Amino acid sequence: MKTLKFGGTSLANAKKFIQVSSIIINQTKINQISVVLSAPATITNHLEMIVLKCIRYNNVPAEELTTLKNFFLKLTKKIYATNKKYPKNNIQKKITKQCEKLQKLLNLIKLFKKCPDKIYAQVISMGEILSVKIMKELLMSYGHDVLTINPVKLISATSNYLNAIVKIHESKKNFKNLNVNKKKIILMPGFIAGNKSRELVVLGRNGSDYSASILSVCTNSHTCEIWTDVNGIYTSDPNIISTAKFISEITYQEALELSYFGAKIIHPASVKPLQIHNIPCIIKNTNNPNYPGTLLTIKNNNNIDIIKGITYLKKIILIKITKIKESNQEKILNKTFKYLSKKNITTYLLNQSLSNNTISFYIQNNPLLNIKLKLKKALSAEIQKKSLKIVLCVKKLSIISIIGYNIKKYNIDILKKICLVVNSFKNKILEVSYNTSKISLSVVLHDKHIIDITEKIHDLILYKTIPVNIFLIGIGGVGSKLLDIILMQEQKLKKIFIQLNVNVIANSTTYIENKKKISLIQWKKQFNQSNQLFILEKILNLVKKNGYLYPVLIDCTASQDIAEKYKIIMKKGFHIITANKKSNSSFFSNYKSIRKIAQKYNKKFFYETHVGAGLPILNNLKNLIKSGDQLIKFQGILSGSMSYIFGKLDGNTSLSDAIKQAQTLGFTEPNPQDDLLGTDVARKLLIIAREFGYKLELSDITIEKILPDSFNKSNHKKEFFLQLKKLNNIFIRQINKAKNEKKVLRFVGTIKNNGSCNIKIKAVDNKNPLYYVKNGENIFVFYTKYYQPIPLILRGYGAGNEVTASGIFSDLLRVIL
Ligand code: ASP
Repeated sequence: MKTLKFGGTSLANAKKFIQVSSIIINQTKINQISVVLSAPATITNHLEMIVLKCIRYNNVPAEELTTLKNFFLKLTKKIYATNKKYPKNNIQKKITKQCEKLQKLLNLIKLFKKCPDKIYAQVISMGEILSVKIMKELLMSYGHDVLTINPVKLISATSNYLNAIVKIHESKKNFKNLNVNKKKIILMPGFIAGNKSRELVVLGRNGSDYSASILSVCTNSHTCEIWTDVNGIYTSDPNIISTAKFISEITYQEALELSYFGAKIIHPASVKPLQIHNIPCIIKNTNNPNYPGTLLTIKNNNNIDIIKGITYLKKIILIKITKIKESNQEKILNKTFKYLSKKNITTYLLNQSLSNNTISFYIQNNPLLNIKLKLKKALSAEIQKKSLKIVLCVKKLSIISIIGYNIKKYNIDILKKICLVVNSFKNKILEVSYNTSKISLSVVLHDKHIIDITEKIHDLILYKTIPVNIFLIGIGGVGSKLLDIILMQEQKLKKIFIQLNVNVIANSTTYIENKKKISLIQWKKQFNQSNQLFILEKILNLVKKNGYLYPVLIDCTASQDIAEKYKIIMKKGFHIITANKKSNSSFFSNYKSIRKIAQKYNKKFFYETHVGAGLPILNNLKNLIKSGDQLIKFQGILSGSMSYIFGKLDGNTSLSDAIKQAQTLGFTEPNPQDDLLGTDVARKLLIIAREFGYKLELSDITIEKILPDSFNKSNHKKEFFLQLKKLNNIFIRQINKAKNEKKVLRFVGTIKNNGSCNIKIKAVDNKNPLYYVKNGENIFVFYTKYYQPIPLILRGYGAGNEVTASGIFSDLLRVIL
């Protein structure tokens, strides 16, 4: 024997009834089948609503009654349309009769002006009764023998009309006398049982699972299948958490814990009978019957250490009963819980503190029930005797729970991840609790961003993947190249659990944004179509709104304005990676305060590309300094354009021609005068000097001018080159003088150990490493305490979109790793 249970979503309309009938018929080929049916989806709610309206308006809500009747009439009409053997008229008569019965019950409610539990149970269970009537005729129309079971007679339960508990032994005995022909399909309405006086009672909302588990036991089923509208159990609700993973096997205890803490998996009461009688249960999908589903087992067979799921409960309130006299603790606890269980209110995270004379617990808020008042009433005798003082409620809370065996083993790691996520949403952990079952850990938070928080925790714990959220400002050559590299490396990084999401791409006027990630394949098209005005503040607020864990702002601009906002950006939660030298070469006080803020807010501030583009200079320097090294002298060629131009002078090229060639090859700034002024080199030199601890300003760097004062600055290219020609002769003299001494001219930046910095044209001989550097290469020569007399030399291309973007990318990895 096998027991199948079909839930409300599996019976929502005619098509689903037919689908379910074919699943049942298919299964009869292998097993004898007993079937439990729920009411079609939403019908029980509708019946509850009818009762509520009947009491509130002291009238039978005729319209609602008609809606209900029409639902079933339409459903059966549609079944008939596909199956002419279906006895539509007969079944519709039954539906009408059932609705008349309902009408009578409603008249009684109207008369009493209230609804006794006994009547309430009869009303809200009508959906199940009709499901069985409809299905019975359907199965019979396909030529199958059906035996319908009346649970009022056979399922014995306690007398609580609305939340009855089944007496399994007694029920099993009732079934012994039942002689079922092996060919018959057993059909039973779920949710319903009978008390001692054989009156109808119900098993609590969603109680059909419970019915199925009882029927499995009573019919000695080898398996119980719960058919629903999802493939099985997931690590979180797949309708809400898109990354939820399917679980093929789970223990009853884990499933129970998941259900208890909010996952709609299986009714908690249904687990115990199955567990005790060692009946495996499979959760199956009516819409995907061939999918194997999730198997619920007694023992944890293989995945000993795996976290099984993450759930959340919203609209939670904290109840605290304080100042309880010690001798009264047990009594008050009993009274409180007796009241709560009578009202079918689930409690979470009970805390009984003897030293504080306090009992505290959480419940789900029910706006129709003033729980504080009700509890005060229930405990009024004790309050009067002054045995306790306050019943305090704190509202608008949530509980997030992580479920899995050996959770304690990982608690520090898990809590760290939870804290990271919760902080990123500016929420707060108010309580951490390990549940007595030892397979779950719960945290209590304020009721805000809970779904997003759950999703982030879920991904961080289950996928171990760190999501890095990138906000890129500046999409010139370097910025665009960086996006290419991110796209290229994305999959490789996923393998080492790093997920790069570019969420914002901006230039100084426009931006595009995507909460999850911008597609880097077509970002340009999207960007060109965007008319969103770039407002930095607006973009920064996305971090809190979307709860990004590792938000990184990458500045690929040359904007003074953005550089001045770094402190605000970090305060908003961003790590910063910058290729914009303006930040580190502004006033020393600013240079210092950026670092202070970064430290205070625990943010990374990386700028490896500020000198030497992709060359690994600054980070190496930092490490050297940390290990006690000190600068004796630095010398370098820090500009690709100047390296090229002076390299050309080694031959017979004139200065003006060398500059022209450098410009044509794209080595220079758009206006080559900017290179010749030496300001960019000065910024780089200043940044290196500051790394070594020299408190310098940009104005402290002396630059020997290449262009004499008489040289008129001009934006006119032609005029500029005309003037430049006049300089050629002066340079030829200098070059020749150097040549005679077997030297070459180089544009050199120097830092001495007294902190003085200068940039000038120097003649160097072949013993100097700078002698060999030309063609746009950079060189950095560090004479230090550790590196002498032979210096530490870093040499290579120090400019270009690709190398700069790769330098930024390696900074990006350092943010996480
Ligand atoms: N129809 C009932 C309810 O909605 C029982 C069930 O479907 O499990 O609560």
